[in-house]
Amino acid sequence: MENVIEVKHLNKSFGTHEVLKDIDFSVSKGEVVCIIGSSGSGKSTLLRCINLLETPSGGEIIYKGENILDAKHDIYKYRTKLGMVFQQFNLFNNHDVLSNCTVGQIKVLKRSKKEAEEVAMKYLKIVGMDSFINAKPKQLSGGQKQRVAIARALSMEPDVILFDEPTSALDPEMVGEVLKVMKELADTGLTMLVVTHEMGFAKEVSDRVVFMDKGVIAEEGSPDQIFNNPVQERTREFLKRTL
Ligand code: ADP
Ligand code: MG
Repeated sequence: MENVIEVKHLNKSFGTHEVLKDIDFSVSKGEVVCIIGSSGSGKSTLLRCINLLETPSGGEIIYKGENILDAKHDIYKYRTKLGMVFQQFNLFNNHDVLSNCTVGQIKVLKRSKKEAEEVAMKYLKIVGMDSFINAKPKQLSGGQKQRVAIARALSMEPDVILFDEPTSALDPEMVGEVLKVMKELADTGLTMLVVTHEMGFAKEVSDRVVFMDKGVIAEEGSPDQIFNNPVQERTREFLKRTL
C-alpha cells in the first residue's frame, strides 16, 4: 500500500518535557487510522507535528518520498495537501458558510470564485449543509459547525484529513450526525487520521487503531486486535477505563 504520510523517529519536546518519543508511524492511501489514548499522551501534538503546526524536535516526515522537514522543502504546498478538523471547529466567524469553504481555495489554491463555489457546494451537499450557505457560524449548532468545518477541509481536496477529537466539544445529541458524516467519508475511500474518544467509531470505522501512552505508540493493530485482544497491559488498562 502506498503511504500518504510516513513518520520516522519523530521527537517533540517542549523545553525539557519530551512529549513524543521516537514515533514511527504511517498512513496509507485510503486508510482510516484512529488514534486513541489518555489525555496528555501526545495525540494532538502528533497531529500538529504532522501538519507542521508544531515543529518536530527530531525525526522525519516523509511525503511523496521526501522528508518535508528538509530545509529546501516547500512546507506551504505540503500543508495544502493536509486537511485539518479541530475540536473547536475554528471556522471564520465573520464569513458565511459558503465563504468559509471558498476562502482557502481562492487564496491558497488560486481557484476562481466560481470554481471554488462549485467545489464548496459539492462538499456542503455531502455533509448535508448546502441549505445553510448564507448562515454565519454563530447561527449554527455545534454539529452543523463541525460539518461545515469538514466540508471546508474537503473543499481543499487534500490527500488526507486529520481530525483532532472532532466530536469532543459537541453536545451529546450532536455527536451522531458528525460521526455519520465521517463514516460516510471513510466509506468513499478518503484517507483519514482521527484522534477520538469515540471507541464505537474507532471499532466500527477504522482500518487500524493506534494506542498512544506517554508519548509513545504503545500498541497498534486492527480494531479487532486492539479492542478484543490487546497485547499490552497498558492498552487493557486504558480500555477498561474508557469502555
Ligand atoms: P493529547 O492530545 O493526547 O491530550 P497533547 O498532545 O495535547 O496530548 O499533549 C501532550 C503533552 O504535551 C501534555 O503534557 C501537554 O501539556 C504538553 N503540551 C502540548 N502542547 C504544549 C505546548 N505548546 N507547550 C508546552 N507543553 C505542551
Ligand atoms: Mg488532544
